[in-house]
Amino acid sequence: MDEDPKPFRLSKEHQTFALKMINENVLPRYRPKNNGGRGKVCNWCQGTRIDHTTEEGLIHPCERCVDHHKARETWKEYCKGFPELVERFLKKQIPLSKPVKQVGT
Ligand SMILES: [Zn+2]
Repeated sequence: MDEDPKPFRLSKEHQTFALKMINENVLPRYRPKNNGGRGKVCNWCQGTRIDHTTEEGLIHPCERCVDHHKARETWKEYCKGFPELVERFLKKQIPLSKPVKQVGT
Protein backbone atom coordinates (compact mmCIF):
# COMPACT_ATOMS: atom_id res chain seq x y z
CA MET A 1 0.00 0.00 0.00
CA ASP A 2 1.37 3.29 -1.01
CA GLU A 3 0.80 6.07 1.37
CA ASP A 4 0.12 9.32 -0.32
CA PRO A 5 1.85 11.96 1.74
CA LYS A 6 -0.54 14.80 2.25
CA PRO A 7 0.90 18.07 1.09
CA PHE A 8 1.37 20.54 3.90
CA ARG A 9 -1.35 23.12 4.10
CA LEU A 10 -1.58 25.93 6.56
CA SER A 11 -4.78 25.59 8.57
CA LYS A 12 -7.46 28.28 8.63
CA GLU A 13 -6.55 29.04 12.20
CA HIS A 14 -2.97 29.85 11.29
CA GLN A 15 -4.04 31.85 8.25
CA THR A 16 -6.39 33.88 10.39
CA PHE A 17 -3.51 34.69 12.69
CA ALA A 18 -1.29 35.59 9.73
CA LEU A 19 -3.88 38.00 8.33
CA LYS A 20 -4.42 39.64 11.69
CA MET A 21 -0.70 39.94 12.20
CA ILE A 22 -0.24 41.45 8.73
CA ASN A 23 -2.90 44.04 9.44
CA GLU A 24 -1.25 44.94 12.71
CA ASN A 25 2.04 45.56 10.94
CA VAL A 26 0.78 47.88 8.23
CA LEU A 27 3.11 50.87 7.93
CA PRO A 28 1.68 54.03 9.52
CA ARG A 29 1.13 55.95 6.31
CA TYR A 30 -0.98 53.14 4.89
CA ARG A 31 -3.12 52.75 7.98
CA PRO A 32 -6.66 54.04 7.85
CA LYS A 33 -7.07 57.59 9.10
CA ASN A 34 -9.30 56.43 11.92
CA ASN A 35 -6.44 54.25 13.08
CA GLY A 36 -3.80 56.94 13.35
CA GLY A 37 -2.60 56.54 9.78
CA ARG A 38 -2.65 58.68 6.68
CA GLY A 39 -5.06 56.52 4.77
CA LYS A 40 -2.78 56.08 1.77
CA VAL A 41 -3.83 53.27 -0.56
CA CYS A 42 -1.00 50.99 -1.60
CA ASN A 43 -0.67 50.83 -5.39
CA TRP A 44 1.04 47.49 -5.21
CA CYS A 45 -1.60 45.42 -3.41
CA GLN A 46 -4.54 47.81 -3.68
CA GLY A 47 -4.95 47.67 0.05
CA THR A 48 -5.23 43.91 0.35
CA ARG A 49 -1.86 43.87 2.26
CA ILE A 50 -1.13 40.57 0.56
CA ASP A 51 1.58 40.06 -2.00
CA HIS A 52 0.83 36.41 -2.68
CA THR A 53 -0.15 33.16 -1.02
CA THR A 54 1.96 30.04 -1.49
CA GLU A 55 0.69 26.55 -2.31
CA GLU A 56 1.09 25.76 1.36
CA GLY A 57 -1.29 28.55 2.19
CA LEU A 58 1.43 30.76 3.61
CA ILE A 59 0.47 34.37 3.19
CA HIS A 60 3.22 36.74 2.17
CA PRO A 61 2.49 40.31 3.13
CA CYS A 62 2.86 43.16 0.67
CA GLU A 63 6.37 44.50 1.07
CA ARG A 64 5.38 48.05 0.20
CA CYS A 65 2.80 48.71 2.88
CA VAL A 66 3.55 46.12 5.56
CA ASP A 67 6.53 46.10 7.88
CA HIS A 68 7.48 42.63 6.73
CA HIS A 69 10.54 42.37 8.96
CA LYS A 70 8.36 42.81 12.00
CA ALA A 71 5.71 40.56 10.51
CA ARG A 72 8.27 37.82 9.93
CA GLU A 73 9.54 38.04 13.50
CA THR A 74 6.00 37.88 14.84
CA TRP A 75 5.29 34.90 12.62
CA LYS A 76 8.42 33.09 13.83
CA GLU A 77 7.38 33.62 17.44
CA TYR A 78 3.93 32.28 16.63
CA CYS A 79 5.36 29.20 14.90
CA LYS A 80 7.23 28.24 18.04
CA GLY A 81 3.93 27.38 19.68
CA PHE A 82 3.05 24.74 17.07
CA PRO A 83 5.29 21.73 16.42
CA GLU A 84 4.07 21.34 12.83
CA LEU A 85 4.92 24.96 12.09
CA VAL A 86 8.33 24.68 13.72
CA GLU A 87 8.98 21.68 11.51
CA ARG A 88 7.87 23.52 8.41
CA PHE A 89 8.99 27.08 8.83
CA LEU A 90 11.70 27.26 11.45
CA LYS A 91 13.76 24.12 11.18
CA LYS A 92 14.82 24.46 7.58
CA GLN A 93 16.33 27.82 8.36
CA ILE A 94 18.52 26.39 11.07
CA PRO A 95 21.65 24.87 9.56
CA LEU A 96 22.00 21.34 10.85
CA SER A 97 25.50 20.18 11.61
CA LYS A 98 26.76 21.69 8.38
CA PRO A 99 29.96 23.57 8.96
CA VAL A 100 29.67 27.21 8.07
CA LYS A 101 32.22 28.25 5.54
CA GLN A 102 34.06 31.37 6.37
CA VAL A 103 34.08 33.81 3.53
CA GLY A 104 37.24 35.84 3.26
CA THR A 105 39.61 35.57 6.25
ZN1 LIG B 1 0.62 47.00 -0.29
